[in-house]
Amino acid sequence: MLIVHPSSTCDVCLDPYTWATAANTPHAIACGHVFCLQCLMSTHPSLCPLCRKAFSRERIKKLHIDRHNANDAMESEETLQVNGLLQRIALVSGEETPEENVIDVVSEVNRWLGARNEDQGLVCN
Ligand SMILES: [Zn+2]
Ligand SMILES: [Zn+2]
Repeated sequence: MLIVHPSSTCDVCLDPYTWATAANTPHAIACGHVFCLQCLMSTHPSLCPLCRKAFSRERIKKLHIDRHNANDAMESEETLQVNGLLQRIALVSGEETPEENVIDVVSEVNRWLGARNEDQGLVCN
C-alpha cells in the first residue's frame, strides 16, 4: 500500500494532498509522475510539469493512497518514545557517565531510528 506523508505536496502548486476536496487528491499520469487533479486539469498543453512528456487527460489515474497520519494513536506513542530517548541521552551526556552506558543509549537510538524508517511508508511524488 502506498502512503502519503503529511508533508507530501503537489510539485506544481505545492499544496499538500488532501482528500477533503477532489481537486487536491493525487493523480498519476502516463509518465508515472503524480500531481493533484486540479493542476493536471489546468496544464495547457497536456505535458508533464516535471518531465514534459505528453499525457492524456482522459487517462489520468486516481491513486488510492492512505494518509500517513490516519493513525493518531501511533503518532502520540512515537512522541512518547522520542521524549524517553531524549531524556536518556541527556542523562548520559554528563562527564562521569561510564562509556558502556553511552554506547547503550546510542545503540538504542539507532535501533529506534532503524525501526522507524522501515514503517515510514513511501512518499509519493
Ligand atoms: Zn497541484
Ligand atoms: Zn512526468
